[in-house]
Amino acid sequence: LVSRKKQPENTVVELKGEKVGDGGISYVFGPCAVEGYEQVAAVAASVKEKGLKLLRGGAFKPRTSPYDFQGLGIEGLEILKKVADEYDLAVISEIVNPADLEQAVDYIDVVQIGARNMQNFELLKAAGDAGKPVLLKRGLSATIQEFINAAEYIMSRGNKNIMLCERGIRTYEKATRNTLDISAVPILKQETHLPVFVDVTHSTGRRDLLLPTAKAAIAVGADGVMAEVHPDPAVALSDSAQQMDIPTFDQFFKEIKDVENRLGK
Ligand code: PEP
Ligand code: MN
Repeated sequence: LVSRKKQPENTVVELKGEKVGDGGISYVFGPCAVEGYEQVAAVAASVKEKGLKLLRGGAFKPRTSPYDFQGLGIEGLEILKKVADEYDLAVISEIVNPADLEQAVDYIDVVQIGARNMQNFELLKAAGDAGKPVLLKRGLSATIQEFINAAEYIMSRGNKNIMLCERGIRTYEKATRNTLDISAVPILKQETHLPVFVDVTHSTGRRDLLLPTAKAAIAVGADGVMAEVHPDPAVALSDSAQQMDIPTFDQFFKEIKDVENRLGK
């Protein structure tokens, strides 16, 4: 169902009037984790000021260590909803447990399925049934075909609103947190009709590489870019090393819009 052979035209996912996958570039910015109202509102204000529509923030954090901050759970989703309503934004947040989905869909606009859950088939089926747009991230060591099959699980339950997100894969290279598989973007665009995002934060794990990789993403035909923004990354409860502060975010956005314009997007 996700194959371009089945449907030659692009799937367009509409979120708060923004048409994701319709030829333009969509941006998803927001903190790694929801830590409190003020923190999320500060980023939302900056997103809004740029005329953007999409805000991210993790409430259920799938952390590698059980001793790391696990997220605020439903309280985090409540904060996201309050901020989204105040700033008229669509919010994207990861859900890790199928049992939380029913409640979560009242708070969020897009269900994110994280890299660690790309092959959690019960979660994929539940997300397919939930009837909300889904942002599906590529698994840590997933092939492109496995990634496409994961999207097929969701669509086979009748949910057509799926966005794919390349977020880097595990290789021997240690200079970056993961290795951004930039060629996955044109391959996914050829093989499927779904919008494709590139998450520059989790793929690189390096603040100095966010802009160059975002430029590459746009140049190879990505429909969107995701990056993490925190009002004070130094005290962030997760991903402190790679989130942008607001002035860095302003500069990032200015430069990426220049590239977008030069490429005639
Ligand atoms: C995230 O986007 O918050 C996240 C945890 O990313 P990933 O699942 O790609 O590691
Ligand atoms: Mn993060």
